[in-house]
Amino acid sequence: QSLTVQSIPLVVGLLILPPAFVVGLRVVTGLIVFAGVRRQPPFKVFFNACSAVLDVAVAAGILLIAEDFGLLSVESFGPMSWLVVLLAVVAGDAIGALSTTVAISAYQGRWEPLSISDLLLPALIAVADVGVAVVLVTLLQRGEPAAVLVLGIAAALVMWVRSYSEVSARYRRLQLLDGFTRAMGGSVLDNTATARLLTEAAEILHADHSWLIVSAPGGVRRLILEDGVVTTVDSSPLDHELLALGRDGARLVDADSPLAPTLEANGHSEMIVARLSVQVDDDYLLVVADRSGHVRPFDDQDLALFDTLAVHAGLALQNVGLVDQLRTEVSVTEHLATHDSLTALPNRTLFQQRLDASLESPSEVAVLLVDLDRFKEVNDTLGHHNGDLLLIEVGLRLSAALEGSEIIARLGGDEFAVLLTGPNAHDRANEVAWKLVAELERPFALEEVSVDVGASVGIATRVNKEMDGATLLRQADVAMYLAKEDHSSVELYAADRDHYSPQRLALVGRLRTAIEHRTLELHYQPQIRLDTGEVVGVEALIRWPQPGRTTIPPDEFIYVAEHTGLIHPLTQFVLEEAIAQAARWHQSGRPLRVSVNLSAYNLVNRDLVDEVARLLAVSGLPAELLTLELTETAVMSNPARSVAVMEALRAVGVSISIDDFGTGHSSLSYLTGIPATELKIDRSFVIGMSTDPAAETIVRTIVDLGKNLGLELVAEGVETEAHAAALTQMGCAVAQGYFYSRPLEVRGLELWMANQQVAPVRRDSSLPRFAG
Ligand code: C2E
Ligand code: CA
Ligand code: CA
Repeated sequence: QSLTVQSIPLVVGLLILPPAFVVGLRVVTGLIVFAGVRRQPPFKVFFNACSAVLDVAVAAGILLIAEDFGLLSVESFGPMSWLVVLLAVVAGDAIGALSTTVAISAYQGRWEPLSISDLLLPALIAVADVGVAVVLVTLLQRGEPAAVLVLGIAAALVMWVRSYSEVSARYRRLQLLDGFTRAMGGSVLDNTATARLLTEAAEILHADHSWLIVSAPGGVRRLILEDGVVTTVDSSPLDHELLALGRDGARLVDADSPLAPTLEANGHSEMIVARLSVQVDDDYLLVVADRSGHVRPFDDQDLALFDTLAVHAGLALQNVGLVDQLRTEVSVTEHLATHDSLTALPNRTLFQQRLDASLESPSEVAVLLVDLDRFKEVNDTLGHHNGDLLLIEVGLRLSAALEGSEIIARLGGDEFAVLLTGPNAHDRANEVAWKLVAELERPFALEEVSVDVGASVGIATRVNKEMDGATLLRQADVAMYLAKEDHSSVELYAADRDHYSPQRLALVGRLRTAIEHRTLELHYQPQIRLDTGEVVGVEALIRWPQPGRTTIPPDEFIYVAEHTGLIHPLTQFVLEEAIAQAARWHQSGRPLRVSVNLSAYNLVNRDLVDEVARLLAVSGLPAELLTLELTETAVMSNPARSVAVMEALRAVGVSISIDDFGTGHSSLSYLTGIPATELKIDRSFVIGMSTDPAAETIVRTIVDLGKNLGLELVAEGVETEAHAAALTQMGCAVAQGYFYSRPLEVRGLELWMANQQVAPVRRDSSLPRFAG
């Protein structure tokens, strides 16, 4: 109910101005007041404007009809007309009140009854308003200067009404507070204190919702009132943000607050939060939110009221011993065991339970694993506090981006998982993954800085009935790592790219044995000088003979070796064998330069350089006959360390080759600072030359660059004579590839070399070739 004098200008307006104009005016003033002054949310502004128009239109309609029937005449403005005006105003008010009540009831989902007094008081005010208006119109019509006095009276009336409503509001607040304290006191006896607190707080603040956030050592939980019964539910990320708000007094959280996005994401427009002053260290936060049924948003008066209320509530709860009760309740819940305390999201345990449950039905199931790309940097440079803030925000963004049925969890660290189930979960997975990536690509505003983090997502889908949750999670993990490696953001699990499958893991044991028993072998692929056709060197490539006819490509077991530490004994083996072999060729008068591949992981081994020097010394091989190959990616993964190791090796006299050059996305100018002696053009560009003009340009550029830097150039993957011819023409010095020979074992290579004529590349295709 509100006491207003707005009917005075309305009546005067309707009687002396065109009705349509008055309706328009009402819309404009309404918008100014609702949107500008009271800052109501859009739907409320819209509704209130509509309701105001309805009110005025009804009043104007009645006046027009009365005029048609001769019941109202502004010229002879007598008692009959006054009555009609009063009727019009009361009818307009009633319609306005009714539409508001219907709207509020519909919004709240329960009928908000209108009492007789609800209608009676406005009717009485209408009588007063109309009285003043009638006098005003009459005087205006007669051109009486006394009209000004009436305006003065009306203004005084407005002010009186204002101050009256303020006083009465203050009085009402006191009454409410008193009633609240009594109610709480009474509930102490029947143990309904929490329920009482939540009902009264919402009622007194005209709020739609109220809840209590309890943060005890056992975790954070939310207490809500459901059908009159207090129920404990999971806390939401919003609750955690509210808890972080600081300790002093009641706080208003609305569209202007930094928490606004979270508010909106949780479907709230405004709320007041206050800590209850309980005598324990735990936090008790009382929250009231949203005002669908009130004309104004929360203001300072409400804040002050709520503050006092929180003090009383704290005392009351303390008295009932309820605080201890709630505390233990929270501590004993299994919530802690199934939720992440930082983000309040389900944890790995709960995620696995839900995943297993979903696999019991025959529906489609997809698991998305989300891992932040630069979380470690944030944590290391900005501290754990910012790291925590970032994770909370990530949790919020991910939850907000997902639909209700999609389950999200924090698995640990910066790893989050999403579970999709239902008819087209597989199709949706990709779409959802990209949505999440986009969400996390937006910068994060931490305390002082804004950071870009980014994320990679791996997707695994249930491809057969037998698949269990652990497998799905593991596959999503593999896919996520691939997404990171390829910088592709999102990857779907593919079995052929899975280096971690159980079969592959069994490989580790066998590989260890193979290295120990020295059953690995080296094959050698010749390198040919393009201008003379002379064999100048060989590249040692490892082979792992398998029982039966199966072979395991080196790419694959090298990867496994790199990720299990086996790469060190493996490289040791290769170096020993290759250097011994090269020394034998050297001694037999056929000096061949041998190239050995190193892995990036070998560079962390401090003994590497000494070991190479020792093997050279023991075998008597001149250092210049040994080249060590490092891929461009390996060098770039840690340039400082690579350069240091390369320089030490150069000091021993060993040559250094940059392998797979062109695939590492490194800036070409970077090369000048690297102590390499040779560039190996990656085979993908060489092979691509036949079909892709761009590949040819790349090869030509690398050749020119190498020449300018005084580096030896080796093209690998030379499969055809056309390749060889093109490379010769570009000025590339050395070539290696199937066109000449596949990698061969020592015997095969020696036979091949015996047949090889020393001749430059020929234009006919009768060059001797071996089929490896
Ligand atoms: P990589 O260092 O780039 O070795 C060249 C690869 O290209 C070899 O594959 C070779 O067989 C293949 N290749 C040679 N000519 C041609 C050609 O004309 N066309 C095509 N399509 N391919 C050709 P391989 O032997 O399967 O080795 C694969 C990778 O495994 C090597 O790539 C290297 O990165 C790694 N690797 C091999 N042996 C060792 C080793 O002893 N230690 C380390 N750390 N890595 C090794
Ligand atoms: Ca190589
Ligand atoms: Ca290569």
